[in-house]
Formats: sequence, structure tokens, C-alpha cells
Amino acid sequence: MKLLEERILREGQVRPGNVLKVDCFLNHQLDVELLDQIGQEFYRIFGQDGITKILTIEASGIAIACMTARHFGVPVVFAKKAKSKNIDGEVYTSVVHSYTYGKDYNITLAKKFLSPRDKVLIVDDFLANGKAMRGLLDVCNQAGVTVGGIGICIEKGFQPGGAELRAAGYKLASLAIVDHMDDTSLTFRQQ
Ligand code: 5GP
Repeated sequence: MKLLEERILREGQVRPGNVLKVDCFLNHQLDVELLDQIGQEFYRIFGQDGITKILTIEASGIAIACMTARHFGVPVVFAKKAKSKNIDGEVYTSVVHSYTYGKDYNITLAKKFLSPRDKVLIVDDFLANGKAMRGLLDVCNQAGVTVGGIGICIEKGFQPGGAELRAAGYKLASLAIVDHMDDTSLTFRQQ
């Protein structure tokens, strides 16, 4: 997606540990017009796939999911990064290793918000090693939902998450794939 790539080139900052900072428009301050165009692009790609819910993980995924859901006309449900354990059996849980914080955390999602009749589109801001996505897919598996697709804003193509998900057969669309980045340059995969 040209618009997103241009924004990354203009305002993205490469930080130590292969972290791309895009807090001017995606992770802290939000460019709602850009998010709307991202949602529209996901609708162009997945709009005919019978999606009944948009699924994401808090916090950065929520805005993207909401703007995407406007185009699909379906609800958003997001996994919570909860500290509590599953004590009453009313929630699905999974463990995710955080790329940016370097530690494990639990995610939870109330069982009542996903049913086997659902076909979900999972969206997130970044795809790196694929751990966050694995957690969401684990929840989908527990709920018995169909995963209709995965929509990512920025995939870091030099990390293995994207290749693994494609090899596993998921319909994965990444709107910008960064193949290389360092302090002085950043290149995108031609799609
Ligand atoms: P993964 O689980 O695929 O290794 O990492 C994806 C998650 O980590 C995303 O939900 C995102 O919040 C965070 N993340 C991974 N890499 C980056 C990055 O380069 N920049 C930012 N801002 N977040 C990242």
C-alpha cells in the first residue's frame, strides 16, 4: 500500500533491536484518515470472504480493527492482555511472548464473543516473529472459529512470522513488508 509505505519512509524511526517506531501515525498518535484507508484496503482484499468478526489484540490493534470493521459492517472483538488466570472457565486464554517488551503475558477473550459459526479476520499493527498471531490463532482454534484471513499493517519480512503463516496456508495480507532496515535505509518488498 503506497500511502502506508510513504508514511513509514517519512516518519518511521528504526530503533535498536529491529524495532520500527511509527508512533506518529499508528502506535500512539493515530492518523484516522490513514487508518480508514487501511480498513478500506483490507475490505478490498477480504471483503468477499464472508467475514463475521474482526479480531485483534490490545492495544494497538484496536484502532485498526475498528476502522476495518466500519467497512465490513461487523463487530470487533479484541483479546485482552490480562494478568489474571482463567479461573471461571468463561474465557479462552493463551500465552504470548512480547517482541517489544521481551517477556511472556497471558491473553484472554470471553467465550461468549466467538462461536464456531464465526469467520474471523485477524488484524494487527505489526508482524515480526508471529508470536502475537500464534496466540490469537490458538484462541481461534479453542473457539472453533474459521480464520478467514490475517491482515497486517507492517510485516517485518526479515523475521519469520509472515513466511511461517503463509506456509501454514493462511490468507495473509501485509500492506507494507519491510525487507531491510537500518539507521540509514529501509526497503520494502515489491508486492
Ligand atoms: P510478533 O509477535 O509477531 O513477534 O510481534 C508482533 C507484535 O509485537 C505486534 O503486536 C507489535 O505490537 C509488536 N511489534 C513487533 N515488532 C514491532 C516493531 O518493529 N515496532 C513496533 N512498534 N511494534 C512491534
